Amino acid sequence: MSSRRGFIKKAAIGTVGITTAFSCGVSATNKDGVPISVKPQKKPLVISTWRHGLAANEETWKQLKNGTPALDAIVAGVGVPEADPEVRSVGYGGLPDREGKVTLDACIMDKNSDCGAVSFLQGIKHPIAVAKKVLDSTPHVMLTGEGALQFALSEGFKEENLLTEKSKLAWKKWLKDSKYKPVINIENHDTISMLVLDEDGNLSGGCTTSGAAWKMHGRVGDSPIIGAGLFLDNDVGAAAATGLGEAVIRTAGSAMVVELMRQGKSPFEACKEIVERIYNKHKNHKDMAYLQVGFIAINKNGEHAGYSIRPGFNYAVCDNEKGNRMEPAASKMTKNN
Ligand code: ASP
Repeated sequence: MSSRRGFIKKAAIGTVGITTAFSCGVSATNKDGVPISVKPQKKPLVISTWRHGLAANEETWKQLKNGTPALDAIVAGVGVPEADPEVRSVGYGGLPDREGKVTLDACIMDKNSDCGAVSFLQGIKHPIAVAKKVLDSTPHVMLTGEGALQFALSEGFKEENLLTEKSKLAWKKWLKDSKYKPVINIENHDTISMLVLDEDGNLSGGCTTSGAAWKMHGRVGDSPIIGAGLFLDNDVGAAAATGLGEAVIRTAGSAMVVELMRQGKSPFEACKEIVERIYNKHKNHKDMAYLQVGFIAINKNGEHAGYSIRPGFNYAVCDNEKGNRMEPAASKMTKNN
């Protein structure tokens, strides 16, 4: 009971008015009724960014329950939005760069801190699966561009056109005035990052994206960079990002969230502090006008949270207790600022 009280007290720091106490799987909410952290009773736990996380969670959950190792379950789960042409920010059907090329970034990390990543990969529908191959079959952490493609082909992946008619039309429309203004906060429009706490209490994670639409050709975001788009330490917790990759790289975002959890912060406190740091660092920055960054995090106890700069960010959570559902993330800014 005393540790539960301690947790309630900690979670109250920096929030206004917690209306519900933490107890097995019951949400605490801020003054707007937004859940700020949830404590599930049992493992496993799967969380993923955005609404497309629901379908990804469902597949990962199914695989975990069938005894599939966590990393393979992540590859299968985030592979669902990667293959879905209606998800316009990941894999097949992703919006292209300003030259009309779909270029993909992905990374994966396991409980032993082993990781694999690909960046600026073209023509391969499942970059997360290639990232896993980099982890399994090479002495390296990241392969990029042409080299990543050659590696994928040598591993039996099929090269295909990832630019759907719908995304091509959107690109042609964009070309008319060619203004680079990242769209923020539109559901179904962002990276998928997934974090898993498996039955054995071990952490792992993956992240896959087509990156910012209309980016410069060759641009790589935070998503394939361990420490930026994804980071975990199996002794502590795991974190992953979505939003403007440049801001997440500048601040080593996910690594910092995990470090704060190491120092005793809850996932909610850690995400909030790093989002606020990113916001403050960018106050006078050219990116501020459209700056959106969101983090999700879990710790070894299965507590989880999401927090973003602007409202609208949410994440999908799957656990034994409540099944697969969306949770809104709290945010630094409100609709009015
Ligand atoms: N973080 C990704 C990037 O900057 C984009 C996103 O999450 O929407 O490439």
